[in-house]
Amino acid sequence: MSGFFFGYGRAPAMVAAEMSELSDRVAIVTGGASGIGAATAKLLQAAGATVIVADINEAKDGAGRFVAHDVTSESSWQALFTDVLDREGRLDIMVNNAGISGSPGNVETTTVEEWQRIQAINSDGVFLGCRHAVEAMKRTGSRKPAVKGSIVNISSIAGLIGSAGPIAYTASKGAVRLLTKSVALYCAEKGYDIRCNSVHPGGVDTAIFNPLWQTVGHEQGKAFIGARHPIGRMAEPTELGEVVLFLASDRSSFVTGAEFVADGGITAGLMRRA
Ligand code: NAD
Repeated sequence: MSGFFFGYGRAPAMVAAEMSELSDRVAIVTGGASGIGAATAKLLQAAGATVIVADINEAKDGAGRFVAHDVTSESSWQALFTDVLDREGRLDIMVNNAGISGSPGNVETTTVEEWQRIQAINSDGVFLGCRHAVEAMKRTGSRKPAVKGSIVNISSIAGLIGSAGPIAYTASKGAVRLLTKSVALYCAEKGYDIRCNSVHPGGVDTAIFNPLWQTVGHEQGKAFIGARHPIGRMAEPTELGEVVLFLASDRSSFVTGAEFVADGGITAGLMRRA
């Protein structure tokens, strides 16, 4: 898909058409100030979309218009959607990406407070994003061109397989997986033109790993985690942004309720090499 943006060997008119593929679309990316969200915002904007970056921390040099937002707060969601619908008049793409890793506590060591903090951001935040997006996309269904809603929820491989370690994070990402399918089925049943899919990354080199980088160093930590992927490395954020771009665009028009795994092969099976 990277050829989509660079267009090597392609006719200029075709490249121009593809670059403006999302020119009539409005997108919100939560957690868009950093990592996967920032890369996604950049790719959506490059494809022509009007992008709103909704994050609790301000983006330093990211793409899109920044709106301060806390995904755990219902009043913050209301303010965000009032702002976007007043200014842009529509919403086509909702990327529920904001998330934290939290503590790596297990079933014996995780406190109720830590459990609830992680669910509030990673799971409740995605639920609220879906609820507000469905309402907005449904209401703007009469817009010209018509809204073809796409909701993309960022889960994790931790949402596909269990873990003895970070139980709260794993449970929060599992919730995102089935929440996504439920939203997809509800929208289809209602006849809304809204698709909803989840993305399941393996290790991606972002600030979410800062505690590890601070302990063992960035390059050493990256090599350590990369070696646990069959493909032999961690992903760069833009590699996940490309997946989100596909699911956000009409190129995935028959894809809903699906889980898109981008994990360098981790969940494909066991490796023969030690
Ligand atoms: P990141 O730390 O670079 O970005 C996360 C962003 O979320 C930050 O900008 C942060 O300010 C924002 N955020 C945190 N709490 C928020 C809140 N309450 N309201 C609004 N914004 C908030 O991390 P990332 O790796 O880019 O993570 C993005 C998503 O990808 C997360 O949901 C994460 O769980 C998921 N993920 C990441 C990896 C990985 O290896 N990096 C793997 C699987 C899944």
